[in-house]
Amino acid sequence: MSWFAYTTLWTLSLAGTTWVLAEDPLTRLLLLIGLFLIYIGVLALGSAFPQMNFYFTSLNRGPADQGCVALTFDDGPDPKVMPKLLALLEKEEVEVTFFMIGQAAEANPALVKRAESKGHLIANHSYYHSSTWPFQFVFAIRDELARASEILAKLIGNKPKYVRMPFSVGRPGLNRAFRKLKLTPVGWDVRGLEGLYRDPKLIAEHVAKEARNGSVILLHECYYRTADFGPDRVVETVRQVIAKLRERGFKFQRLDDMFETEGYNNEA
Ligand SMILES: [Zn+2]
Repeated sequence: MSWFAYTTLWTLSLAGTTWVLAEDPLTRLLLLIGLFLIYIGVLALGSAFPQMNFYFTSLNRGPADQGCVALTFDDGPDPKVMPKLLALLEKEEVEVTFFMIGQAAEANPALVKRAESKGHLIANHSYYHSSTWPFQFVFAIRDELARASEILAKLIGNKPKYVRMPFSVGRPGLNRAFRKLKLTPVGWDVRGLEGLYRDPKLIAEHVAKEARNGSVILLHECYYRTADFGPDRVVETVRQVIAKLRERGFKFQRLDDMFETEGYNNEA
């Protein structure tokens, strides 16, 4: 049973107890409102922090006894960013994991193939990456994930195994969808927080400070398409992140190498 299910059951039983024991109607109402607000707060926290494994258990950190971290990039492939990013990664001899948006992959098929052929792992990051996805029906989310997997499979010959939900947000009902599609959810241990720090140097310092053995590091290929975070700044950020992590002695791994699993569901 997930933490979400436990929390819901506990809240319902506490609400029932409050209903029975509170004698004064106003006290009862205030206690129930308080309980409801706490419940919503816990759900929101569980949604924002995948490390809590609230709705489902995700891979957030690899082995702590090896000096490796995994760089992961969300929201591509982007035609302006990815060619430069792939060139940098090749020069630095770093293999990473790309969580790709199905729609963007469909629009840039050559980039998906090139990323895979350069030794990077391709993973699923939904089809539309809509900001309203947590409010959709579960079957619609499942269909969207399946569509992204199909598109990526057509391009690289293998169905992705790993998935990261848009904005790394969780919600009830995803566990079953992941099981049905044989997808393994991935969270993060360290986030670039590019939107907060903005400056490549500050982002790199933040990532290097937070990183530890086994960290899954979440960076963005496109930072929500903001004008002041263009391709050159993205690539410069990655260059400095790699340099700073190397200074601390870390090596880089793809997710499948870090977790010693297959990177794809080989049935496409
Ligand atoms: Zn994203």
